[in-house]
Amino acid sequence: MDIQYEVVIIGAGPAGMAAAVYASRAGLKTAMLEKSAPGGKLVKTNEISNYPGFVTSGGPDLAFKMFEHSTAFGAEYLYGDVTRIHDHGNLKEIALADGSSVFTKAVIVATGRDERLLNIPGEQRYTGAGVSYCAVCDGAFFKNQEVAVIGGGNSALEEAMYLTQFASKVHIVIRRDVFRADEIVQKQLEENEKIHVIKKHVPVEILGENGKVCAIVLKNVETQEDTTLAVNAVFPYIGQDPGTSFVDHLDILDEQRYILTDERMATKVPGIYAAGDVIHKTLRQVVTATSDGAIAAQSVFHDLRG
Ligand code: NAP
Repeated sequence: MDIQYEVVIIGAGPAGMAAAVYASRAGLKTAMLEKSAPGGKLVKTNEISNYPGFVTSGGPDLAFKMFEHSTAFGAEYLYGDVTRIHDHGNLKEIALADGSSVFTKAVIVATGRDERLLNIPGEQRYTGAGVSYCAVCDGAFFKNQEVAVIGGGNSALEEAMYLTQFASKVHIVIRRDVFRADEIVQKQLEENEKIHVIKKHVPVEILGENGKVCAIVLKNVETQEDTTLAVNAVFPYIGQDPGTSFVDHLDILDEQRYILTDERMATKVPGIYAAGDVIHKTLRQVVTATSDGAIAAQSVFHDLRG
């Protein structure tokens, strides 16, 4: 069980990449471990307009710049799907799905959150064939077609507006009669003629034809009546859940499974830190994620090097 790194950062979203900059620049032997492409939610976001220094930036552009920066001072980028963190005191073992392990003195968990599923018939079957959780990745496939976005938060509204570049019409389906998104985003939505809002409805089934989405069945939450809306794509944006299953056993989660940290981003397990959307906090933004990452890396540095 040779120690390979001083710190391993799990997750290469904004929090993880900021942590990598600070840890490697401080001289710690650092690795970032990621199970897919770097960038986290940034690569799935069309436009960022609240990250200081960039009035507007494409999400993937900002992600690419952060990634270049995160590896500029020697941090290694590793591929791996983490299944468990084993705490052996001063040594942490990060077990991966392929059966191998990575050994390190400290861990920063920055795994963010995973998209919540609708859990309705047809969702799984048509994922990749009209059901998509990433408007930026898949929106262009639906040029001049009608699509549905489910949810009324910032993500749903922003991505619905992005989709109007391609789609002939974007139906937004919300279960209440009010949005959850910020007022400024709602205002932009009102000005967009391609948007059609369907209130007080929930999706109950996604229908397909020739292996692709052709419609969505919606239930009126007041009358319980079902209607079928013809669409070629469904984009669920109904929130996210933290990616924390691999630390279940460490007793560091709140009741919603977010990681509890102190102001140093340290958990109650010595040597295990967390940063970004995955932690228990009030404001989940790119700017707060990068801040958490910087603090976590600095705390690791102080704890390891005194
Ligand atoms: P969110 O704010 O939690 O909104 C989720 C939306 O989905 C709500 O409208 C919710 O309805 C609806 N919903 C939840 N479960 C549903 C279900 N089973 N069926 C139908 N509808 C359902 O999630 P988010 O938009 O992903 O945003 C997450 C966080 O990131 C928020 O804090 C948000 O402010 C932040 N964010 C910020 C920006 C930005 O600042 N520009 C951009 C994106 C995200 P109810 O309202 O009825 O509960």
